[in-house]
Amino acid sequence: MAEEERILVSVRLRPVNAREAERGDGSDWECAGPTTLMFRGNIPERAMIPATYTYDRVFNPECNTRQVYEEGAKQVALSGLSGINSSIFAYGQTSSGKTHTMVGITEHSMSDIYDYIDEHPEREFVLKFSAMEIYNEAVRDLLSPDATQLRLLDDPEKGTVVEKLTEETLRDKGHLLELLAVCEAQRQIGETALNETSSRSHQILRLTIESSAKQFMGRGNSSTLMACVNFVDLAGSERASQTQSAGMRLKEGSHINRSLLTLGKVIRQLSKGGNGHIPYRDSKLTRILQSSLGGNARTAIICTMSPAQCHIEQSRNTLLFANCAK
Ligand code: ADP
Ligand code: MG
Repeated sequence: MAEEERILVSVRLRPVNAREAERGDGSDWECAGPTTLMFRGNIPERAMIPATYTYDRVFNPECNTRQVYEEGAKQVALSGLSGINSSIFAYGQTSSGKTHTMVGITEHSMSDIYDYIDEHPEREFVLKFSAMEIYNEAVRDLLSPDATQLRLLDDPEKGTVVEKLTEETLRDKGHLLELLAVCEAQRQIGETALNETSSRSHQILRLTIESSAKQFMGRGNSSTLMACVNFVDLAGSERASQTQSAGMRLKEGSHINRSLLTLGKVIRQLSKGGNGHIPYRDSKLTRILQSSLGGNARTAIICTMSPAQCHIEQSRNTLLFANCAK
């Protein structure tokens, strides 16, 4: 990523799973080098699907999450240490590997951030953690699960803040791992209670990093740096389909995910550059993330995809999103 490039876009193919293999679905896609994805499918509409796609990085099914992190997210996550806000998103249809990818990226990022802190004893760091879920435009606190309808407020200095959101000051890495486990448990409870919640909700894990030079070290820069890093596991992208394809259940089709659609519009505007209106205020997700999108902020988008033939329509939609983000 060039220094001035703000949005890093990559595509990750997951392996064909047992169910897909059983129906005889092979892989339609393959990586031809580190930045090129190729369509190899043999279907009647073949002519309508471009054969090659170029992104900042593409990852084949054999790549592990560490590699995806190193090449697709690390520099964005670590920019929080130098006072630059950032967001890392996983975008893709349900079961394409978003959660698998984000959980690993979050852990690797946290680990590297703590390593950096250990290697920089001349600075004093304060880390804070918060976690929320957006479901049907309602914001829930994952660290205080009874708080299910948090309001967003406009603060003249801080921008949009989530009222009463729990923010834990981290004692150490162990404390952070405990909180991640709490979030994971909450997510799973949600999944069983409300069938399919995870495919409809967005999860944001937010780490706020504040640092300043230690006084006793004397000279040097005494300015305080502050930034937040957001790890965002998005709702299934099938929720953003504007055309309600025949196979889609009517009830779902009529309930399009406002936050996901708005995020798409915001990313498209940002990647175009220029002075166009950016509709941050049209959804909860984009309001919450506004200060970590655009401007000076860094963004990494990892688009996850099943390579199987039966998912061709959703894979095309995912790549359209990835193309717009570039
Ligand atoms: P999503 O969050 O997009 O709905 P998940 O991350 O839950 O999808 O992935 C669906 C299933 O596929 C899970 O069982 C997950 O472990 C598996 N999976 C996803 N990506 C990979 C991968 N790259 N390698 C191996 N298994 C994967
Ligand atoms: Mg998921």
